[in-house]
Amino acid sequence: MHKELRDIRQLSLEEIETFFIENGERSFRAKQVYEWLWKKSLKNFDDMTNISLATRELLKSNFSINHIQVDDIQRSNDGTIKNAVKLHDGLIVESVLIPTNTRITACISSQVGCSLDCNFCATARLKRMRNLNPDEIYDQVVAIKEEGELYFGRPLTNIVYMGMGEPLLNYQNVLDSIEKITSPKGLGMSPKRITLSTVGIPKMIKRMADEEVKFNLAVSLHSAIDETRSRMMPINEKSNLDELAESLQYWYRKTGRKITFEYVVWKDINDDERHARALAKYCGRVASKVNLIEYNPIDDGEFQQATPDKIDMYEQILESKNIVVNVRRSRGKDIDAACGQLANKSIG
Ligand code: SAH
Repeated sequence: MHKELRDIRQLSLEEIETFFIENGERSFRAKQVYEWLWKKSLKNFDDMTNISLATRELLKSNFSINHIQVDDIQRSNDGTIKNAVKLHDGLIVESVLIPTNTRITACISSQVGCSLDCNFCATARLKRMRNLNPDEIYDQVVAIKEEGELYFGRPLTNIVYMGMGEPLLNYQNVLDSIEKITSPKGLGMSPKRITLSTVGIPKMIKRMADEEVKFNLAVSLHSAIDETRSRMMPINEKSNLDELAESLQYWYRKTGRKITFEYVVWKDINDDERHARALAKYCGRVASKVNLIEYNPIDDGEFQQATPDKIDMYEQILESKNIVVNVRRSRGKDIDAACGQLANKSIG
C-alpha cells in the first residue's frame, strides 16, 4: 500500500533524532540532515552527499520535502520582481523582491488567500484556502535571496510579512518561520531586519509581546476614526481602535520597539483634516511612526488615491506634532506586485 509521506520539515531536530534512533541509526545524522534541509535548502534526499545510500532510502520511504517551486517570474521596469510560487498541493501564492539603492527586500505571503475583507485589497477577493507552513514561508525567502544574488549581485537585507494573508491568523507557523530565518541553523538573519505587518489583532499582539519577539511590528491603520476604519476594514468591528491602542501600548512596554502605522489616504474617505488630526492624536497614544503609502488601484476602481495636497496636509499636521512620517512610493505597479495587488492574476 502507498505510504503517506510526511513533510520532513514539519519535524524539529529532536524529532528527526528520535526517528533515527527508532530506526537503528545514529542520532547525529539528524543534525546533518537538518542542516541540508534548512541551511542549504536542499530539495532532494539524493543530494545529501554525506548521508549513506541506505539512510537516504530510509528517509525517502518515510518523508517528502515539500519544497516550493517558483512557477513564474515577472519583472517590473522599476526592478521589482514578482514570483508566483507553487506549493506542493498545487496552490499558488505570490512573493515580491523589492530592490532599492541600499536594500533588497523580500515581501512574502503567510496564507493562501485571506479571510479578512479589507475592501480596498485585491487579496481579500480571494478565499482563504489554507495557512502556509513554516517551510513554505522560509522557501519564499530563500527564493528571493537567490534572485537578489543572481539579478542584483547583492544579499537579501530585509524581510516584510506584507504579501498575501494575515500573519497573525497563522501565528505559530509565522513565528516558526521567523525562528528558522533568524537561527544560525537557518539563514542567520537579524530579527531587526524583519517586519511583520498586521491588520492589528489585539490578543495576538499581546501574545507576541509576551513572547518577547525581536522583530518589528507594522499595523495597517488607514484611519484613526472607528467609523471609517470599520468601513474599510471590517475587522475593526471586532476589535476597535481603543483595544488596538491598548495592545500596542502593551507591545511597546514589553519590547521597547515603536510601531509603524501603514496608512493610505483615499480621496473623499479620509483625506480631510478631521482624519489627519485623529491620526496625530492616535500616534500620541502609541509610540509610533507613520508610513503614508500610495494607493494601488485594484480592478473595480471603487477607491482612489488622494491628491498630493492632501498628503502634504497630512505630513504637516503630523510633523507639527513631532510624529515621524514617511511618504512611500509604490513599487512594481506595472506587474501587479504592489501592496494589495497580489491576487494571482497572471496565472488565472
Ligand atoms: N494582512 C497584513 C499584511 C498584508 S497587506 C496587513 O493587513 O497588514 C500589506 C499592506 O498593504 C497593508 O498595509 C494593507 O493595508 C496594504 N494594502 C492592501 N491593499 C492595498 C492597496 N490596494 N494599495 C495600497 N496598499 C494596500
